[in-house]
Amino acid sequence: VFHNVPLAPPDAILNLNTLSKADPYPTKINVGVGAYRDEDGKPWVLPVVKKAESVIVNDASLDHEYLPIDGLRKFTDASAKLILGKTSPAIVENRFAGIQTISGSGAVRLGADFLNRFRKATVYVSNPTWGNHHDIFRDAGLPVQTYPYWDPDVRGLAFQAMIDEIQEAPKGSIFVLHPCAHNPTGVDPTADQWRQIADAIRHGEHFPFFDCAYQGFASGDLDRDAAAVRYFVEQGFELLVAQSYSKNMGLYGERTGCLTVVTKTPELALNVRSQMCKLSRASISNPPAFGARIVSMVLNDEQLFTEWKGQLKVMADRIIHMREVLFETLTELKTPGTWNHIVDQIGMFTFTGLNAAQVKVLRDKHHIYMTDNGRISMAGLNSGNIRIFAEAVDDVVRH
Ligand code: PMP
Repeated sequence: VFHNVPLAPPDAILNLNTLSKADPYPTKINVGVGAYRDEDGKPWVLPVVKKAESVIVNDASLDHEYLPIDGLRKFTDASAKLILGKTSPAIVENRFAGIQTISGSGAVRLGADFLNRFRKATVYVSNPTWGNHHDIFRDAGLPVQTYPYWDPDVRGLAFQAMIDEIQEAPKGSIFVLHPCAHNPTGVDPTADQWRQIADAIRHGEHFPFFDCAYQGFASGDLDRDAAAVRYFVEQGFELLVAQSYSKNMGLYGERTGCLTVVTKTPELALNVRSQMCKLSRASISNPPAFGARIVSMVLNDEQLFTEWKGQLKVMADRIIHMREVLFETLTELKTPGTWNHIVDQIGMFTFTGLNAAQVKVLRDKHHIYMTDNGRISMAGLNSGNIRIFAEAVDDVVRH
């Protein structure tokens, strides 16, 4: 039966974890996968999450019954408010619907399935983008193209080329946008550039699909990281937005996310919700409860929400600090090249500009694990390993 099934290649990012785990070298460094690590290189369970967990575990009224198909309503409503803002016209006018999903990946997939069924068009993702975007949209049955995003010459946004592509794309295309902390480049458009992007998208009658995996984690400010999405809603767009609580609440393995749709009218929101429920029912039946209960408790309790914001800032600030230290160390080592993009970029990742050959030497000689495109997760660095890392980069750049 299975004689025609070839072996698939391992996942490029998750495989780095496997390789790094198997490496006995004492000062190996894993800057591959995008998961937060503290100053000791350890995963961090947010104290506010621990608090919520203990309340949930001890709440005798909770059971293990199924959630509704579209998930915990307290969670999806709070998630929509978190990304759109409490006073968003879409919230005030009740023309939104939130569906609980298997984290951000599941939200993107549900959105892709929905678009494939009701608004089939070519999907444009940034070049480069999170690798899974290509696979998710393709597997959902939609043709995928890219729009320019990264300009290697300036190590920044290829803004004009991006606008040109939006203008040239066939009318009614779907544009996938990262509202903050673009993965993998760490380069975000400015507020003025977002305005121009929105104009070009409106002009092309395209459909915006935001994938928001780092709200609050990027800048430490939840509102600032949501500004692009809110701007589009204020401008009257209908849109989709995928949210993940993997990074900003550290709930990676709990698979907690939400897909929110903004529509022109409350009636349309109801229709879209009903169709999303049908799609979700046929793929996951209904979503998992534990992570959604945690997030719902944190978002809906003023005290816990304040604590969360403080802990988000701890993570964001540590990453910003690592950027500064890496930049200073490379400057001190007089490493050839310009490195200011390390401090200019935002969020979990730095797109270093190292090429695949240099990445290979870093892995083989220095036991440093990163993706072939030269992306590093800043969270993998700490004061104990950052000098070793900088010296290794210095070494590969010079040779
Ligand atoms: N979108 C982007 C752009 C991401 O970077 C990620 C996390 N790597 C995700 C979606 C989804 O992650 P998760 O499914 O863990 O929420």
